[in-house]
Amino acid sequence: MTDSCIFCKIANNEIQSNIVYHDEQVTAFRDIHPVAPTHVLIVPNRHIESVSSLKSEDEALAGHMLAVAGQIAVKEGIADSGYRIITNTGINGGQTVFHMHFHLIGGQRMKHPMG
Ligand code: 5GP
Ligand code: ZN
Repeated sequence: MTDSCIFCKIANNEIQSNIVYHDEQVTAFRDIHPVAPTHVLIVPNRHIESVSSLKSEDEALAGHMLAVAGQIAVKEGIADSGYRIITNTGINGGQTVFHMHFHLIGGQRMKHPMG
């Protein structure tokens, strides 16, 4: 837990959010500024700054986050139509909240290519 981290507070239920999934390891909640009909953020409950901070002992956690994202996509009804999972990393990646998170985005046709 990092005192000033908004996603630590959401995962810890200290501030309100629209939570769609929670377990011992991860929390998923709706993005406050959705860019598509479905826009869910999946975060580890423990503070990890970004993908670059992952250690070998975090591999199961990272895999679990991905599996949870896939299951939420099924539950949200966007698995068949398709979706995108993004993790912005660092300044050039466009990361604005420095607690690692996967964006699950779907419900509309996304632009491609990225960048
Ligand atoms: P990033 O820019 O780091 O990839 O993504 C951060 C995301 O967190 C943004 O899409 C932003 O809308 C979302 N966000 C920032 N603060 C809050 C908050 O307090 N609650 C929720 N639900 N989402 C937030
Ligand atoms: Zn945090």
